[in-house]
Amino acid sequence: MKIIHISAECYPVAKVGGLADVVGALPKYQNKLGKKTGVVMPFYDNKFTKSHSFKIDHRSTVSLGNLNYDVEVLILENQDLGYPLYAVKIAGLLDRENVYGYEDDTERFIAFQKAVLNWILQFQNKPEIIHCHDYHTGLIPFMLSNAYVYESMREIPSILTIHNAQYQGQFSFDKLNYFPEYNLSNSGTIEWNQLINPLAAAIKSAWAVTTVSPSYLIELRTAANGLEWLLDNEKGKSTGILNGIDTDVWNPATDPMISKNFNKQNSLSGKRNNKLFLCDKFNLDPDKPLFAFIGRLVGEKGAELLPEIFKISLDNPNLNLTILVLGSGNPEIETQLKELNTDYKGNYNTFIGYDEQLSHIIYAGADFLVMPSRVEPCGLNQMYSLRYGTIPIVRSIGGLKDTITDISEENGFGICHENTSIEEATIAIERAHELYANQTKFKKIRKQIMQIDHSWDNSANNYIDLYQTLIN
Ligand code: ADP
Repeated sequence: MKIIHISAECYPVAKVGGLADVVGALPKYQNKLGKKTGVVMPFYDNKFTKSHSFKIDHRSTVSLGNLNYDVEVLILENQDLGYPLYAVKIAGLLDRENVYGYEDDTERFIAFQKAVLNWILQFQNKPEIIHCHDYHTGLIPFMLSNAYVYESMREIPSILTIHNAQYQGQFSFDKLNYFPEYNLSNSGTIEWNQLINPLAAAIKSAWAVTTVSPSYLIELRTAANGLEWLLDNEKGKSTGILNGIDTDVWNPATDPMISKNFNKQNSLSGKRNNKLFLCDKFNLDPDKPLFAFIGRLVGEKGAELLPEIFKISLDNPNLNLTILVLGSGNPEIETQLKELNTDYKGNYNTFIGYDEQLSHIIYAGADFLVMPSRVEPCGLNQMYSLRYGTIPIVRSIGGLKDTITDISEENGFGICHENTSIEEATIAIERAHELYANQTKFKKIRKQIMQIDHSWDNSANNYIDLYQTLIN
């Protein structure tokens, strides 16, 4: 079986969030299961591409309206990711430092998608499955089934995985001239609310749709940023497959990024060592329980509630705790969180920015991880945190609901709350504090969570089963 994953992000080449982790790991696990899988992504001008060598695989051009761009499809050399990695270089469009956030993101990702299809078109042996991830690759299923130029690839099944339905990439019909020629009577397939909507187009055109957790699939039928009806209508071809984690990268026993490696036998001293490192670096008292937050500072993560949640918890005379935040996003939230640094010096600190290594040390050194998410398609943070012996405090939604069981239930190991609210999140922190006070129970749960298996082994198989039904 030949499978091509197409994505805007892939760890370790370019990462903004969980999409990169998934696309960076799933193909490796599929190859371990005997499949032939590769990844194609844009070539960005970032730290990774500057420090690694790539070889040219294919040259072509791509047009957007009257403009033509040179395209080079490059293959990564001398780096074993567990799959071949191809990067599409389009000078003047894709070769910038960041993945997203440019005014011409629409042009960038349309050019990328056309360049990928032009590249596949000239393969002698075509892939058996084209697996697209999120809206940045959402026009591919439509182009495959409608554009005249790709007619010879019409029988290749395409899959869309929705990692996040909040972002849909809409743009106006003025840009229809960017599309390859197709039967215009099919334009309804790319339209949603009078705009071209790449995510909607993919949901309608792909042979199968998956979401990154079973609960998220159900939730999208009532909350999908305007696509609820569509997702409900397409439920027959949709499946929820829980993400896994890359246990080669996320393994506290071997992780080169943390200050001391540990396993469940020596987790007490190992976690303590990482906590001491963090507390020293961020001026926190290591003898108090350490609560952490890692993530994008946006409404989806409930981030605008964090300053108030933390203030209330730090002011609570019954609680004696420390808090560390690693994140970036909404500048207002960043400022509010940073302001707490002075007010609660010694018990609170914020690191604004993106720091992969620091995230690993926090998973390793914290006692609890706070996730009051409003929307959480899967959430990887809670799974990393389990593997590193850090107890998650989560709002039960999406993948958080599918992976975390409250301590009040049989064999429960996390702290859960129903709603994203300041009150419920602060009560959850109080419950965690109470658990910490009972060190016997706390340590038992810590050992228990480190043994939970969220590796890709199961989920990689679920995708392969799905591919097989489509091929058949
Ligand atoms: P999302 O994709 O919605 O941001 P996920 O939970 O699926 O959320 O994945 C988030 C990933 O990004 C995790 O690997 C997490 O550790 C990482 N991450 C988020 N923010 C930061 C940050 N500021 N620094 C380092 N890693 C981060």
